[in-house]
Amino acid sequence: MTAWNSALRAQFPIVTGHPELAYLDSAATTQKPQAVLDTVQEYLTTSNANAGRGTYPWANRTTSLIEETRERVKAFLDDPDPDTSAVHFVSGTTEGLRRVALDWLTRELRDGDEIVVPFADHEANASPWLEAVESLARQGTRITVQEMPYQASSGDYDTDGLAGLVSPRTRFVAATHVHHVYGGDMNVHRIRRVVGPDAVICLDAAQSVGHLPVSVKELDVDFAVFSGHKALALPGSGAVWSRGVRGTPFAPRGWSGTPNTVGVASLGAALDWLDRAGLERIERWTVGLAARLTEGLRALAPYEVVGCQLSLAEHSPVQQRHGIVTFRHRDVHAVDLGFILFSHGFMVRADGLCQGRAGENRSSVRVSVHAYNTRHEVDRLLEVLAGLT
Ligand code: PMP
Repeated sequence: MTAWNSALRAQFPIVTGHPELAYLDSAATTQKPQAVLDTVQEYLTTSNANAGRGTYPWANRTTSLIEETRERVKAFLDDPDPDTSAVHFVSGTTEGLRRVALDWLTRELRDGDEIVVPFADHEANASPWLEAVESLARQGTRITVQEMPYQASSGDYDTDGLAGLVSPRTRFVAATHVHHVYGGDMNVHRIRRVVGPDAVICLDAAQSVGHLPVSVKELDVDFAVFSGHKALALPGSGAVWSRGVRGTPFAPRGWSGTPNTVGVASLGAALDWLDRAGLERIERWTVGLAARLTEGLRALAPYEVVGCQLSLAEHSPVQQRHGIVTFRHRDVHAVDLGFILFSHGFMVRADGLCQGRAGENRSSVRVSVHAYNTRHEVDRLLEVLAGLT
């Protein structure tokens, strides 16, 4: 543990309160630092009210909190034009992507248009687009769905292949920033050049927001969707950021109603915490832990690290993985491995990794880390795994 790592770790009471356990499932949900817990407590005990045109201070404070957190999200995502963009709070990435699909895409597409869908990414970034297409088909609007091509060697998107697929009718591309099984950066910044200025790119940032710096400006995307609970905030606190698409900000239907005020409060506190801790540093740490684990697994014969096959060839450098490593044992089923690992105190994700129809369907174990995890935890995990060979 470095001094930096131990200072951050000390701020997560659930982690320090259970020294016998190692939480290695942060891609599913992250733990929450004391600053977020304090904000939640403070909000609920000093100003809990509904947002809107209040005539009393708690309601006014809640309204400002929501507005301020919208601006906070824009700044956090390096929004190049916060005056024309919009942030809508949603329960998480699954809901956010569905909102974009059903409230925006279905209105925008015209007969004969084409869209590109990444079928080997998370299911949440495949099924909403197909539902939108089906709903349009029922009204007689035919849309062609192209499958996003992937590079066999590295697992990220094959932009040359994509260049061969796109046409002037390509209106929409769904993409993922960091893959939830392989941990690889999908190189989304290359997509704009291939699809041109008019196609709308929607980013699933579930595994990147809160783990590494995310710049919608550099990635040149039109929508970015993420889950607060994977970025140190409470469950139910995600957001959809949208650039004013051709001058019009995304204005979804039926989004009135009571917002998740306490979730939004937690999100603001989490983003502040992440900025203070430093996202570059967090990224370096989690990439380093993933590399340590990948290297260790490569030395253990019965284990196969999933994805990025070429990079796993003998003596090749380990491909950078953003805090996520998925692997399987030659003989032990992933679910059994999950139980065995928990008997040694390790909490990992076993089996069922929610990949779309082009994804892996063999069962596997996923280890995912955040700033509170330590090298010692990775080394102990490797020791236990070595004992199962
Ligand atoms: N996309 C990706 C890449 C994910 O990893 C996840 C969560 N595993 C989701 C979407 C769905 O996120 P949520 O469950 O928070 O809606």
